[in-house]
Amino acid sequence: MFQVNMWTYPWDLVDEEIDRALDRLQGEAGVTGISLAVTYHSIEQLRPHPGVNPRTFRSPGGAQFQPMSELYAATRLRPVVALWLKKSNPLATISQCCEKRGLKLRAWIVCCHGSATVARYPTFAMKDVFGDSSANWMCPVNPDVREYLRALVEDLTTHYLFDTIELERPSFPEKLHSHAHYKTGIVLGPVGEFLYNLCFCESCRQAAKRDGVDVEAAASAAMEGLTAILSDRDMEASSRESFLSENPDLGAFVEWRCGQVTSLVAMLKQVAGCRVVVHRVGDRYMTATDWQAVAGGCDGLLVPCSYSGDDAMKTLVEQVCGDTGDLSGVELSFNACSPQCPNAEAFVSAVASAAKLGVRSVDVYNYGLLPLERMEWVRRAARYAQREQSD
Ligand SMILES: [Zn+2]
Repeated sequence: MFQVNMWTYPWDLVDEEIDRALDRLQGEAGVTGISLAVTYHSIEQLRPHPGVNPRTFRSPGGAQFQPMSELYAATRLRPVVALWLKKSNPLATISQCCEKRGLKLRAWIVCCHGSATVARYPTFAMKDVFGDSSANWMCPVNPDVREYLRALVEDLTTHYLFDTIELERPSFPEKLHSHAHYKTGIVLGPVGEFLYNLCFCESCRQAAKRDGVDVEAAASAAMEGLTAILSDRDMEASSRESFLSENPDLGAFVEWRCGQVTSLVAMLKQVAGCRVVVHRVGDRYMTATDWQAVAGGCDGLLVPCSYSGDDAMKTLVEQVCGDTGDLSGVELSFNACSPQCPNAEAFVSAVASAAKLGVRSVDVYNYGLLPLERMEWVRRAARYAQREQSD
């Protein structure tokens, strides 16, 4: 059966009463599963559902469940439990309620991005070529970060009933990311953003060197390129591809980083013991993701799809099929919120088109952000798609 999963925040379920909210998701929205945030970054969310209190939910983020601390003995990191949970562990109730109702439960793990965790453990943050640490991103190469993620997946899949694990950002960031009032008077452009986004933390330097990469030469090339851009010397003509072909040591470093993300995903899949899909966002330059290689180590890629018509969707699905090898590893996601989604018709027809193309699972964004009227959109879309696929 065609799967429709709704991305859901646990605080929305708790504040609306878990059973009532799941009734609504299953009955009014007709979803077959929910994808529940189990680790999350900081958030400030205006909530449209009537009666929900507070209307604006604010949280510095963190783990959305109570971890079993003994599992994290081999890493210096521990999950930072989100403040709103206090001592409670709604994940246990949500897991049982979903099981009882036959709703599939997916764990939506935001892997390396999280300012609450980085604030607690600044040593494990990414570090740019100037040596400055990120305030919100852990380095996916750091052995403690990798072990923390391994333990997190083990904790979740051992103690709760997950059908699928979704890994979001088991990688470097896809764009420069700040929570502060970020200031710059320079247009970095694609080359500058790429160079500025590269991690040269101690872990990256040591591990790359161990694997035979001349990381000092790579760092010098990045430093030189970035300094030129910051000095207003024109780099506009240069693309990332040509910059790397002029700087082969940096090219080797970029390849090596991709291997690190690939092996991280494969390791997490081994631990999970259930289906693992990775949010397919970013590229080999920014996130260090070689999607074909990543797909080889997990069960599928989940790709955001916009409302640009059937031809664009077909092209996208073919492209992702090129990574996964076949359609069974292709999942699409649709943002049903405004302004991303123009109207009900666009949403329903996009989900139906996905089904027509042979896609078997979609994720919809996001229960607590959507006006309740849109539950009906999701139900119509699910019904059309299921009919489409049973024909
Ligand atoms: Zn690093």
